[in-house]
Amino acid sequence: MASAFKSTLLEDLEVDVKLDAQIGSLTYFAIGGRADTLVRPQSADALSILLRRCHDDEIPCRILGKGANLLVDDIGVDGIVIKLDHECFTKIRFNREGSIDAMHAMAGADLAKTVIETSRCGLDGLSAVAGIPASIGGAIRMNAGGVYGAISDSLSTVTCLTNVGELITYKKEELGFDYRTNKIVDPIILSATFELQECDPVALRKRVKEIFAWKKSKQPLADSSAGCAFKNPISENGERISAGKIIEDAGLKGLAIGGASVSPLHANFITTTASATGKDVITLMNSVKQKVLEQTNILLQNEVVIWSRDPEVQR
Ligand SMILES: Cc1cc2nc3c(=O)[nH]c(=O)nc-3n(C[C@H](O)[C@H](O)[C@H](O)COP(=O)(O)OP(=O)(O)OC[C@H]3O[C@@H](n4cnc5c(N)ncnc54)[C@H](O)[C@@H]3O)c2cc1C
Repeated sequence: MASAFKSTLLEDLEVDVKLDAQIGSLTYFAIGGRADTLVRPQSADALSILLRRCHDDEIPCRILGKGANLLVDDIGVDGIVIKLDHECFTKIRFNREGSIDAMHAMAGADLAKTVIETSRCGLDGLSAVAGIPASIGGAIRMNAGGVYGAISDSLSTVTCLTNVGELITYKKEELGFDYRTNKIVDPIILSATFELQECDPVALRKRVKEIFAWKKSKQPLADSSAGCAFKNPISENGERISAGKIIEDAGLKGLAIGGASVSPLHANFITTTASATGKDVITLMNSVKQKVLEQTNILLQNEVVIWSRDPEVQR
């Protein structure tokens, strides 16, 4: 149900607005409900003013990247969902600063395309995240990565918009990047700069292909999912242990609820059929957590972000 915003909230802004918008279909799971309002700003100024007004009027604001790490509950979400897919938010630009090859990327740029573009130019720094579906902003928010490295490895600065719409630029060192996390508290990552290394484009393209092939052999990339459902927990000796292995050892591969199941290829992936609901995924994730807790005393933490009108579900 669309909430009653002040009619002046959006009318004079350079934004594209859709009320009662289906947003579940914009995620990789391709399931789940609607947002009261989906807003596509057409300029950074409009985005900044929008944030300020939402803050003043206490309207909840969420930002949707590529939806590759996101589950939208069937009952949808309140407030405003922002999508940065206007061309002003998807540009990347290269420039040489002294001896350093730098890339400036807007948050809405597609990570996979950026990996291809940088490898075509013989500039490395992002090959480690080849094959990860993401926007640049979503990848930074999640510090996306894997066995070869993370997006933060080549990051130099991140520019955010605060909840009152002010621009602020951080050096990577200020942001405490770690496994799938960082200290960014601002609601919107607007852009970032990366420091890249010149290398042989042929060798770089080969490396990107190898990393992608490795990923394809280990993960169910052809199925609908949001990547790893749970974070790898820390063992008693302080090392990360594979959540997938823990779930597999608990005998949960193939466990299914409705149209959602634990992937037989990689137990930390929950995959869905076209008939699945958000509730199927949420119930299956809770069931996996409960069974793992009973068997191992390990409490798995969600890696997938869940959006819901119900604060108990969204926690
Ligand atoms: C097949 C598959 C394989 C995957 N493999 C991996 C993997 O190997 N490694 C890995 O780390 N992840 C993996 N993932 C998960 C996913 O690709 C990453 O988490 C990715 O970073 C999500 O980016 P996104 O743009 O889709 O973000 P979304 O899913 O849209 O959003 C995720 C979170 O980031 C926030 N966000 C998005 N954009 C912004 C922004 N501009 N500013 C502030 N916050 C923002 C959202 O509000 C939300 O909280 C995989 C997913 C799939 C479907």
